[in-house]
Amino acid sequence: MTGKISAAGREELLSEIYRLLYQKYGRLRCKLNYSNPFELLVATILSAQCTDDRVNQVTTTLFKMFPDAAAFAAAETVDVENAIRTAGLFRNKAKSITTASRRIIENCNGEVPADMAILTSLPGVGRKTANVVLGDAFGIPGFPVDTHVKRVLNRLGVTISADPEKIEAEVNAAIAPELWVNLSHLLITHGRETCRAGNPDCETCLLRAICKYYNK
Ligand code: SF4
Repeated sequence: MTGKISAAGREELLSEIYRLLYQKYGRLRCKLNYSNPFELLVATILSAQCTDDRVNQVTTTLFKMFPDAAAFAAAETVDVENAIRTAGLFRNKAKSITTASRRIIENCNGEVPADMAILTSLPGVGRKTANVVLGDAFGIPGFPVDTHVKRVLNRLGVTISADPEKIEAEVNAAIAPELWVNLSHLLITHGRETCRAGNPDCETCLLRAICKYYNK
């Protein structure tokens, strides 16, 4: 297929992308506020189509009202809806959070499972959310692919896929597991600050020499 990169080419390119972004940003952490895996799970569910700053505003109050999975499991969904209304998609998110909490209480002894298959069986939890929880809360290597990661990796020529699962597998095969979590954070930060969706700032971009989009 036109523009397709070889496995060796992808390894080399990703390694250089990581090196250059790491030089600028170093080791990053998740921008969502949380104090345990359950809070990170809830915050990540809330982050769909919502900024991290807004999620952090919402969870400051939310985690005082509902301090753990048992509290969410016992909650009336409408009370959770009202508490998260400003995060958008609040009906779906409230349903996901309360139902996931009930499953965690009933099936997982109240603890968030450190397991991809079980996490993705919870409502509102896809591979991206599960990888965030596994990587940031449990230190288990994972590569979350969000809209920034997908866009930046396509522009750079690392992938030609729009499928997050395929991109995750391509990156997993090309770079060491201990770099996955930070690479995702680096790409998200680069996508927010420089390689923006509408107007990428290519002239100041430290990746432009190796960027397919810039050099085409
Ligand atoms: S050169 Fe432009 S398109 Fe390429 S990564 Fe940088 S900002 Fe994005």
